[in-house]
Amino acid sequence: MGGRISVASEVDKGSVFDVSTRAPEQLEESYRPSGFSAVERAKLGPVPLAPRPLRVLVAEDDDTNAILTRALLKKLGHTFVRARNGAEAVSLSAAEAPDLILMDVQMPELDGFEATAKIGLGEKASGRHIPIVALTANAMSGDSERCLKAGMDAYLSKPISLDPLRDALTRWG
Ligand code: MN
Repeated sequence: MGGRISVASEVDKGSVFDVSTRAPEQLEESYRPSGFSAVERAKLGPVPLAPRPLRVLVAEDDDTNAILTRALLKKLGHTFVRARNGAEAVSLSAAEAPDLILMDVQMPELDGFEATAKIGLGEKASGRHIPIVALTANAMSGDSERCLKAGMDAYLSKPISLDPLRDALTRWG
């Protein structure tokens, strides 16, 4: 389970056993309050509170990236729902009406570009726009241009970190 066991023994004194385990983290699949009270967030130190808590749809096929993104969103006081592929992103964006979408570019079923195009078609009918921030592993400038051309509002390169994420959520959320 990714844990460790160590033993230290001293003659006539005894032994110390040190055991640590790491349980697999479960992903929440629906919106939940972040769980941090204002006091708890203040204790987290230099993390400024989000201007308002956002409901963020995270379209990400990779579990590790999804867990990291959820942790960062929680830290900022936002809530999280996950889509595991582009097709789920399209249906959840309609069903959940999130404040913002973080969209991985490379996903099965539909990739981030295709999912964005489909969401855009629905928005032409509804007149409501949900900001989409692309998550791209490719920092090349061509990729960022492609994101904006596809109808995304902004992009972040992976692995995402707290400050750029907070800035993007403040600007687009
Ligand atoms: Mn991916």
